[in-house]
Amino acid sequence: MNPTSEDPGRPRPWPAESKETSSVADDDRLRTVDEHLASVLDGIGSIDPIELTLLDAQGLLLAEDIRADFPLPSFDNSAMDGYAVRATDTRDASGDDPVRLQVVGDVAAGAKLRSGMGPGLAMRIMTGAPIPAGADAVIPLEDTDRGVARVAINRPARSGECVRRSGEDLAAGAGALGAGAALGPQQLALLAAIGRDRVVVRPRPRVIILSTGSELVEIGHTPSFGEVIDSNSYMIAAAAKDAGADAWRIGIVPDDHARLLDTLESQLLRADVLITTGGVSMGAFDVVKEALSELGTVEFTRVAMQPGKPQGFGHLGDKVPIFCLPGNPVSSLVSFEAFVRPAIRKMLGKRSLQRATVQAVALEGAPSPRGVRQYRRGILHREATGGYSVSFSGGAGSHLLAALALSNCLVVIAEEDTEVIAGSEVTVIPLLLSNR
Ligand code: AMP
Ligand code: MG
Repeated sequence: MNPTSEDPGRPRPWPAESKETSSVADDDRLRTVDEHLASVLDGIGSIDPIELTLLDAQGLLLAEDIRADFPLPSFDNSAMDGYAVRATDTRDASGDDPVRLQVVGDVAAGAKLRSGMGPGLAMRIMTGAPIPAGADAVIPLEDTDRGVARVAINRPARSGECVRRSGEDLAAGAGALGAGAALGPQQLALLAAIGRDRVVVRPRPRVIILSTGSELVEIGHTPSFGEVIDSNSYMIAAAAKDAGADAWRIGIVPDDHARLLDTLESQLLRADVLITTGGVSMGAFDVVKEALSELGTVEFTRVAMQPGKPQGFGHLGDKVPIFCLPGNPVSSLVSFEAFVRPAIRKMLGKRSLQRATVQAVALEGAPSPRGVRQYRRGILHREATGGYSVSFSGGAGSHLLAALALSNCLVVIAEEDTEVIAGSEVTVIPLLLSNR
């Protein structure tokens, strides 16, 4: 029997906030953010490629080389609405003295009949329709009198003019897309054009998210004294989807060893990544840390960052990575950005794992603890001059959800900096939505 589950309301020996705001300059057991990220990425393997239909493959990376079975275009066709002609027949045409040709038929897009066309003749042809045998050019409607039985042509056509040659886009057997290509609308169009309806891709990792904490309740339950509605699982599921994963919230687990281990075990088979929030600090009821440390496959570390100092990472079952993030919402999101997002992107096969940063002028100053990389929530503005400026959204407290919701970026204050001076340049990570 786990004693912690019987008395979840007992006060912690110290407040959660002080765990993260205390100075850590003299603590030589902390890992740097970069060291922790490197060790996390080291523990992230790739997922076996799968075959998906085109629209399910959107945003993913191709895991096969694709060749065209037939040429693109697959037949010579007209680039314009006009008249298919033999260029030599139009050699002497001019506006003053047009060449007149007999029109022997119409060729519409999709026409099957490819009747030949002898000298001195023309056929009315539509964009995309096959060039009749014997013709070698299309003279656009604009350069004719648009005649039906006979057509007057006002200028000479060049041989090959307005003809889209079979194979000029892609020859039969040529490489269409290589493994590693990112599949956006342009690439999906090419795949469809060459007749592929399914492709082998690096799949979206399946991320399972669970919130730990005996104080947590679901939305819909009016929190009584001491209870807190679980917001982390929504935030982390959204962040995981935004990073390119498929995400499932599996709800709340109280601070209870057995319940936690059972729940994790039950999810292992369907997960490519497990994420827990809460329970990784030094408190008496930090059950995630207690229960998973015992397994010996998950390591709990303290990282020189603020917020997000306590971090757990390791593997469960058959090498399924598990991230144990701190419970304070801001700590959780910053930890996700620092470690989980790059890991998900690695699983997706992306080359760039980190978000892009921009430099912005700080509109206000703030102190920052030495020896830790601080991530402050910010509001990034684009100035009329083209540069950026940034103000802070809320204080350093990692429980400040309303300020988090107003923010659109993280301001990164380096380990060695002890303050941000108003007017100086700072590094900012814009938290752009991916619209996936
Ligand atoms: P812990 O990391 O478990 O010590 O939790 C730190 C703080 O975050 C406590 O105030 C918790 O109530 C809060 N917290 C933990 N998990 C969640 C959650 N899923 N949603 C909202 N707040 C949470
Ligand atoms: Mg907790």
